[in-house]
Amino acid sequence: MKHLVTGGAGFVGSHLIDKLMNKGDYIYCLDNFMTGNNSNIKHWEDNKNFEMINHDVTQKISLNIDKIWHLACPASPKHYQRDPIKTTKISFLGTLNMLELAKEQDAEFLLASTSEVYGDPEIHPQPESYKGSVNCTGIRSCYDEGKRIAESLSFDFLRMHNLKIHIVRIFNTYGPRMRSDDGRVVSNFIYQALTGQPLTIYGDGKQTRSFCYVDDLVDGLYKLMYSKTIGPVNIGNPCEISILELSEIIKNKFNKEIPTIYKPFPQDDPLQRKPNIELAKKELDWEPEIDFNKGIQKTIEYFKRNINE
Ligand code: NAD
Ligand code: UDP
Repeated sequence: MKHLVTGGAGFVGSHLIDKLMNKGDYIYCLDNFMTGNNSNIKHWEDNKNFEMINHDVTQKISLNIDKIWHLACPASPKHYQRDPIKTTKISFLGTLNMLELAKEQDAEFLLASTSEVYGDPEIHPQPESYKGSVNCTGIRSCYDEGKRIAESLSFDFLRMHNLKIHIVRIFNTYGPRMRSDDGRVVSNFIYQALTGQPLTIYGDGKQTRSFCYVDDLVDGLYKLMYSKTIGPVNIGNPCEISILELSEIIKNKFNKEIPTIYKPFPQDDPLQRKPNIELAKKELDWEPEIDFNKGIQKTIEYFKRNINE
């Protein structure tokens, strides 16, 4: 079995590659290192079943493969907003190129979509049937609308070409291999706490998110690819907390006084987010297993080990 993992040198992609490599399959890791890191996949470099392809998904590529896991796209607002036109190109052209490759190879295709397709949701928790509330002219829209068109394109390849597709809507995920400069809240707070900086809360901190440990997410991706489910399917941990609560949980993991500073609330930042995971439970027999305290502890240990590198 030959797999192509786009975005394989990134946070989620590299954990997925670990799982696939451990099954003994052949893996092409395709990445342009925009936000990925060679250290995430370095341990496979000499393995005969692993091949790194330094390539931008907005350019076409031809490869002999059976399954495509399409994850390539910057995921943190800090990175996807740096060059929003590039983000839109990655979402549209990148996904189009990978769908065309899947069609050419008759390969199965999994799209990593996002809870951001729900925008700033008026329905809580969010089921897959919710159509979303995205501001199509705001600073998040390059990513939110980008993923919406990626979903739409995937369905058109299914309808027009009978392509085998699966769509996962990933909710906030955290864990080892997040970059210290990733910009997302969990990695920011841990890095700030470790380096003696105040934790930065955007707005009043009452906005909520539901955080899933990366191993649970990767199990969900795997089950989806090997199922008959097309989706979209939410994969996330429904354990919802406010950003203020998150800051307290992380502070309590350190034996020192850590101050907090407040920064302006970003435009269109969703006020609440929590997945409804009934579909994943029913169709994939999936639900998260790693509790937040344990996951955060493992993530802090990773940051401690890597802080000086
Ligand atoms: P990440 O930024 O760590 O990884 C993205 C990877 O894609 C990086 O290795 C990056 O270098 C690569 N990449 C970006 N643009 C590329 C291009 N043009 N060509 C080739 N490679 C490119 O992010 P992540 O958290 O690992 O997210 C992976 C996927 O999951 C993304 O598609 C993201 O939208 C989706 N997702 C993640 C989360 C989350 O909480 N982590 C939530 C929702 C959706
Ligand atoms: N956030 C914060 N401080 C930070 C980084 C993020 O308060 O240093 C907030 C951010 O405004 C959002 C939440 O934490 O309300 C989650 O942000 P993240 O970028 O991790 O994920 P997303 O907004 O994409 O869900």
